[in-house]
Amino acid sequence: MVLLGPPGAGKGTQAARVAEHLGVPAISTGDIFRANVAEGTELGTQAQGYIDRGEYVPDSVTNAMVADRISQEDCREGFLLDGYPRTQAQVAALDEMLASSGSRVDLVLEITAQEEAVVERLLRRASEQGRADDTEPVIRHRLKVYAEATAPLVDLYTRRGLLVSVDGMGDVEEVTQRILAALSRHDLVG
Ligand code: ADP
Repeated sequence: MVLLGPPGAGKGTQAARVAEHLGVPAISTGDIFRANVAEGTELGTQAQGYIDRGEYVPDSVTNAMVADRISQEDCREGFLLDGYPRTQAQVAALDEMLASSGSRVDLVLEITAQEEAVVERLLRRASEQGRADDTEPVIRHRLKVYAEATAPLVDLYTRRGLLVSVDGMGDVEEVTQRILAALSRHDLVG
């Protein structure tokens, strides 16, 4: 399963909850990048400048990282991707990775949110967690990159009949219940 939505829509929070219900790992490319930056790995060094500017890390780097992660044992029964794919090239790469293991994307969940609400949420998170990319200019840039590079994936997955959209406004539990209701309509959870 793939989770789509703008920065600040609540993907990370909901990914953890939904993955728990599905009994699969939640894989956040943003979290993996940040862990690598914190540990000072080669991957972290490659990614840091892009993240700090609110740009996407190059597809070649991101695709290789995801291929490695989803080949691990805990992903054999399925997994939830949070923050990947974000470009058409990543969609194609994911299709290939999955096809090579006889698998496919089952469902794409879009979490929607209003722009001003997400900016407010991210600025609040900045003061709580001190994420380097949560300054207002970088937040605005991340939203612009999302609109240009990632929003078109909503149409792409709609055409494939895989997209389910859920309103991400409201409190965390309310949104989780909306998501689980949507998934049960699609037979992903009982
Ligand atoms: P947000 O939801 O605010 O975009 P994430 O934690 O998902 O936050 O991502 C943080 C940063 O990590 C992104 O701005 C980007 O630099 C990088 N990143 C995460 N996922 C991808 C991806 N699929 N492709 C390229 N870069 C990515």
